[in-house]
Amino acid sequence: MTEVKENAEPAARGAHSGRVLDTVDGVDVIECEGCGFKHINPIPGDEELKSYYSEGFVKERPLYIEKLEEDLEWWNTVYDDRYDFLERHLPEDRRRALDIGCGLGHFLNRGRARGWQVRGIEPSRQSSAHAQGLGLDVLNTTFDEFEVKDGLMDAIHFSEVLEHIADPVWFLEKTNSLLCDDGIICVVVPNDYSPVQKVLRDKLSFKPYWVSPGQHINYFSFDSLEGLLGKTGFKVIEKTAMFPMDFFLLMGDDYVTDGLLGRECHAKRKSLDIMLGEPGLKNFKKEMYELMARYGVGREMVVYAVKK
Ligand SMILES: [Zn+2]
Repeated sequence: MTEVKENAEPAARGAHSGRVLDTVDGVDVIECEGCGFKHINPIPGDEELKSYYSEGFVKERPLYIEKLEEDLEWWNTVYDDRYDFLERHLPEDRRRALDIGCGLGHFLNRGRARGWQVRGIEPSRQSSAHAQGLGLDVLNTTFDEFEVKDGLMDAIHFSEVLEHIADPVWFLEKTNSLLCDDGIICVVVPNDYSPVQKVLRDKLSFKPYWVSPGQHINYFSFDSLEGLLGKTGFKVIEKTAMFPMDFFLLMGDDYVTDGLLGRECHAKRKSLDIMLGEPGLKNFKKEMYELMARYGVGREMVVYAVKK
């Protein structure tokens, strides 16, 4: 746990070194001193990643589209919370949103219904075709090939994207350049090496199930994400969380080794979230998730930041 490793051949973007936290499937996760956040080492090459997201991602998860459709009512409540925040913080005439890695287009679809001008980019052919089928302005491309020629964005959303990106500094700086002055980003990433996961590991002998080197390169905490955003031209204005699914593990429901149980746990969290969205509880729900974020709890982090 105290071993220090360095890349034999540091990538062009700089050497990555730091304490090795875990080795999963032969891949190390390091507490990178240069980057200020945890990531796998070595970092995979761009070409390898591109082919994975254009073809492999949906193929490896055949039920992806079905599950998302089944979850749509819940997702819409999640997305409404995000649009509510953006609409509270942007003037009424600022409603241009970009979703990077928009998947099937549900976030964009919700925005369009609320009067936003929306567009998305999505590297998976199958997902982008689905989004285009909803009549959405979605390009099947990767972010490095994407250019905006007709004006800057008021809001940029990227959910479950940054953990997959080989060079998050480049990604965030490019995002920053696409944003209007005072524009807002909404970043959603898994909350890894969290206090809850530490208890699972220390007290209940869980392995680091949150490490998946084939998919996730980067492993953020609220602090490391805020630090990275600060270095790339953003100021964090709000931190909140999504339901701490790992509570189920604390309560004895081991969904890590049982996929069906995982769906049952997910169904319970959906019901809870939807019920907590009722008028008498809505403010409590909002503050509960913000409080969780303050303590580093929540399976995913939802962080809003303005362009500095
Ligand atoms: Zn690094």
